[in-house]
Amino acid sequence: MPHVGREILWRIVDLSEINIESYDTLLLDRDGTINVHLLGDYVKRWEEFEFIPGVLETMPRLARHFKRIFIVTNQRGVGKGLMTEADLADIHRRMLEEIEKVGGRIDGIYCCTSLTEEDGRRKPGRGMWEEIQRDYPEVEAEHTLMIGDGDVDREFAHNCNIAFCRVDSLKKKDGVYEWKKAKDMDVIILAGGLGTRLRSVVNEVPKCMAPVYGKPFLFYLLTNLLNYQIHKVVLSVGYMREHIMDWVQKNVSEFPFDIDFAVEDTPLGTGGGIRLAMQKCTSKAICIMNGDTFFDADLEHLLKVHEQSGKILTMSVKHLTDFDRYGTVSFDERGVVTGFNEKRFCEDGYINAGVYMVSDINLFKKMPEKFSFETDYLQPKAAERLISAFVGDGYFIDIGIPQDYAKANEDFKEFWTWVKRK
Ligand SMILES: [Mg+2]
Repeated sequence: MPHVGREILWRIVDLSEINIESYDTLLLDRDGTINVHLLGDYVKRWEEFEFIPGVLETMPRLARHFKRIFIVTNQRGVGKGLMTEADLADIHRRMLEEIEKVGGRIDGIYCCTSLTEEDGRRKPGRGMWEEIQRDYPEVEAEHTLMIGDGDVDREFAHNCNIAFCRVDSLKKKDGVYEWKKAKDMDVIILAGGLGTRLRSVVNEVPKCMAPVYGKPFLFYLLTNLLNYQIHKVVLSVGYMREHIMDWVQKNVSEFPFDIDFAVEDTPLGTGGGIRLAMQKCTSKAICIMNGDTFFDADLEHLLKVHEQSGKILTMSVKHLTDFDRYGTVSFDERGVVTGFNEKRFCEDGYINAGVYMVSDINLFKKMPEKFSFETDYLQPKAAERLISAFVGDGYFIDIGIPQDYAKANEDFKEFWTWVKRK
């Protein structure tokens, strides 16, 4: 059986990315989160109940941190007549015994066993959360965290206005185990750009390695990704890649995701570089970002907008006023990008903020080996109305010119006050 669950659960509960200190109450989903989820079936007897590797080891730690831990689970197998309330109670009694044996603690189990009658109780309905609040009046939504493996858990948390963390899920079908990744998103960072226009202020280094308030710019890009459950970051690198690789090697342990490199031996253009990096990705959705701009886009929201758009690519755009450094992006009222406008003074417009979402690994199949992402791909695809826009209002900076590089050095002094928002 693959051994991922432990690390994932540890990471999620351990890391400052969700600022665990602000929560004193934990809600846990059961199937797929605590025990192996039997696909197309229910855990009907204790013999079918199997803890996901790592969960029991994590329980004492959760017990030490959280004042209250509840399980919130839909168990329709009872409503369907596949097992009785007594069977379920027996499973839960034995599960609690095992958890307590290792020093863990569960303060209550809330389950919805009915098929239809109690729809308000069934996740994602708020019913079970309201029961918890009734039974434990001191529990506050603001200080409650939900951990689960399914969309239904995320929706439930949303409906109850509580924080949510998704964990990898272990499922079993016909005796075969399969992990389902918590967040199916890899990130590509285009780190091949050279800081030629920065030469007056920094020695010739890849732009993403330009020091900003004591750290390479790349450090801030990677650190901001701690806000999301990213599995892998692929750095698209070329000329002078040693600077980046050395730094990553020394600092990789600070980040909970894998960091890999896609190395261009011959320059492939931005598009060819992305295609090469995509070969290293295993996720369904891939977020692509420039290594010399920082845009604090909400990547989960971007992914959602992308999925709903039905377009091949979604680009983030940012509203600016009185600027002449950037071209602008035009889009219609449905958010479909209609075209790009050249650089000129603009009083009021949207710029390409350099963060993209795609979900087709074969996106560039028909493109030549070497091509520019912007001119050879984005422009013609926008003309075909195949790109959607995501309007974000987060912080944006492009360190490509000395003036803005200096501004980044000022702005990033405050970085820690706003990066950890979850
Ligand atoms: Mg589940």
